[in-house]
Amino acid sequence: MIIVSVTGPTTRRALDQIAESSRFADLFELRLDLISHPDMARLIRATTKPCVATCRPVWEGGEFRGPERKRIEILKEAAVKGARYVDLELEAGAAADEFLRLGNRPKVIISRHLSSCRGINVPHVYAALHATRAEIIKFAFPATDSYQIRHVIDFLERARSDRRKAIAIAMGEYGQASRVLYRKLGGWATYAAPENGRAAASGQIPASELKGLYRADRLTGRTRVFGVVGNPLGQSKGVYIHNALMKLSSQDAVYCKFPVCNLAAFMRYVAPVLSGCSVTIPYKEKILKYLDEADSIARGIGAVNTVVRRGRRLKGTNTDAAGALDAIERVMKVRGKRILIVGAGGAARAIAYESVRRGASVLIANRTALRARKLVRELHTHALDSNVRYAAVGDLTGNEFEILVNATSVGMIPHVHLSPVPKVLLTEKVVFDAVYNPPVTQLLKDAVRAGAQIISGKEMYLNQAALQFELYTGKVPDRRLMRRILTRMLTSH
Ligand code: NAP
Repeated sequence: MIIVSVTGPTTRRALDQIAESSRFADLFELRLDLISHPDMARLIRATTKPCVATCRPVWEGGEFRGPERKRIEILKEAAVKGARYVDLELEAGAAADEFLRLGNRPKVIISRHLSSCRGINVPHVYAALHATRAEIIKFAFPATDSYQIRHVIDFLERARSDRRKAIAIAMGEYGQASRVLYRKLGGWATYAAPENGRAAASGQIPASELKGLYRADRLTGRTRVFGVVGNPLGQSKGVYIHNALMKLSSQDAVYCKFPVCNLAAFMRYVAPVLSGCSVTIPYKEKILKYLDEADSIARGIGAVNTVVRRGRRLKGTNTDAAGALDAIERVMKVRGKRILIVGAGGAARAIAYESVRRGASVLIANRTALRARKLVRELHTHALDSNVRYAAVGDLTGNEFEILVNATSVGMIPHVHLSPVPKVLLTEKVVFDAVYNPPVTQLLKDAVRAGAQIISGKEMYLNQAALQFELYTGKVPDRRLMRRILTRMLTSH
């Protein structure tokens, strides 16, 4: 069940929201505390789906400020005019009992909304809700980290073993996956934002996205869950690419965003639900110690961007390295070539390691020389010594390398006019920029003018994501679809 919360704030706007969300909603929730002077009869008539009437008081996180008696009258009126469900707070006490005594019409949702995630006691909250005779029990709290989805898992497991219809939601950006995964975790329903309207609660996803992008209403207990782990995640492109690929190849799988603050807690409580994940800044190195194994590439680089579950074991690998080198090698084979890598962060490390592994020699330059020297030393410990050296950009003439790689963030939006190297170094080289947003950076523009062959970071992004998809599903992804989605996302900025 996808319940679209209708928030108004006028009857007119509420009617528009109902019309626009109708094809995505299984139920509508009329937020009578958010719609001013609601014309209830019109609204309920307009909902072609069953209706939940909610008039949330300020003491439970809503906006209704009137007397309790009035609030209950509003809900009774909604029931008389055809609302199939009313939502009442556990704390409403006698008022809730009044509705429960009416029997099955309207059906009652008894809910508990916590205002903080501190000290959540799921057994206690569950027991209090379970003790009511409500048709459906509902629990919501604001999450400050993705690992707190554990409370949703715990609550819904209890409800399942008691055969209770239950809804549990971790609110806010950190809990969004709990809204997508409601069926996987055994929830009866999830709440969605109306199309073109205010979300009733933080983290609500529009119903069109829940259905279209995540196929949330089709997930089952057997659905395999993937996602991206990092922080911040912003506009994760992986969510759009992997979900589209999974849908196209009819995989019973979904890909969510997991913005994580406490990696140890996430790996302990939520990772057991995952079949795999992409790992991004700042966890590519830190995740290694939580894995059962890592392949030689990930170990050599010291960073993991992909985790896959094999039975009970989590295995790490790194597709950034091959993603970059495969992109470069479509233009020039690197064996026997000299590559200048500007940058000494995670991307530089992966590209340097894989370049040497494929037979190139590497010069590493970086704004912070100390960091570049440290990277050279670390790569030496992997017996790559003769092929990795330090360089200072200012000392170079251009005769020292054939391929130039930008592995810094210089040139990324919003600083699109910056380039990490002077133009004189670019003449007739092969130039690869790991930056993919914008897809054609200032460095690449300068390189074209200097007669160089260029490769966009977009190619690396597509390669590493394609390799991930193969690892997740065993299927070859549709590259054209991936390119179309990424191009749309990058140009839409
Ligand atoms: P990182 O570990 O944070 O490293 C950042 C690097 O950029 C460091 O070498 C840093 O130099 C340098 N840098 C930052 N600002 C600079 C400035 N103003 N002037 C000179 N150097 C500067 O980041 P990362 O993960 O390696 O990522 C680097 C870039 O690669 C990012 O743009 C990222 O989007 C891109 N990337 C692309 C893909 C892809 O699929 N295309 C995949 C991964 C990464 P200091 O050491 O002096 O701070």
